[in-house]
Amino acid sequence: MNAIKVKSLRKNFSMGKQTVEVLKGLSFEVESGEFLSVMGPSGCGKSTLLYLLGGLDEVTFGEISLHGKDLTTMKEKDISLLRRRDIGFVFQFYNLVPNLTVEDNIMLPLILDGKKGKKQKARLEELLEITGLKDYRKHTPRELSGGQQQRVAIARALIFEPKILLLDEPTGNLDSKTTVEIMELFKTIHLELKTTIIQVTHSKETAAYGTKILELNDGVIVRETRIERKAS
Ligand code: ADP
Ligand code: MG
Repeated sequence: MNAIKVKSLRKNFSMGKQTVEVLKGLSFEVESGEFLSVMGPSGCGKSTLLYLLGGLDEVTFGEISLHGKDLTTMKEKDISLLRRRDIGFVFQFYNLVPNLTVEDNIMLPLILDGKKGKKQKARLEELLEITGLKDYRKHTPRELSGGQQQRVAIARALIFEPKILLLDEPTGNLDSKTTVEIMELFKTIHLELKTTIIQVTHSKETAAYGTKILELNDGVIVRETRIERKAS
């Protein structure tokens, strides 16, 4: 089954009497285990698309199915559950809680959900390992570099073992060396945890980490390219 199926997706924003058409009919599919990059210039609707995929905003027209379930007809309660458990988000800014330690930031979604058992503890250890944060578990965000803070945000996004990870310009705030390190981490997550990843980016270099690139311009898909994996 496809992880994601998007059909004739449109999104308009109304501002006063004006309606702006941002997404003008997108159709595409994402296979389970795929790493899709959606690439396009600033303002072309990338974040808008990602928010719709994550159930964070309402679709104007069209369909989005996640693992065969149509988001556009789902009850808000079910969408909110899906958002908490099945989808992980990583944004350009890390949105960490400044006075919590690295491990508490990572565990926060579990704590808010009333879960903190043995299985979750094991997951935390696995994520500290994969993100290289083992030695920083008791640090607070201000004691970390930007790249390390983004690693914390990535681990937090993965704590519920989501099937889908949505990334909005995840290296947009990082220098080029750190960008490579973070993109290599996503590659590892994709290969080892088998997570389906969708990233949106304006950068060709980061898009190249995907297994497929969709180019978006002015609200439509202008090109679809399947790519060979970048060698490590
Ligand atoms: P990108 O992420 O590709 O830079 P966005 O998806 O953020 O682009 O925005 C696409 C267009 O939609 C922009 O013109 C932006 O101003 C507009 N837009 C985004 N969100 C809203 C909103 N909530 N209300 C009105 N216009 C919006
Ligand atoms: Mg954006």
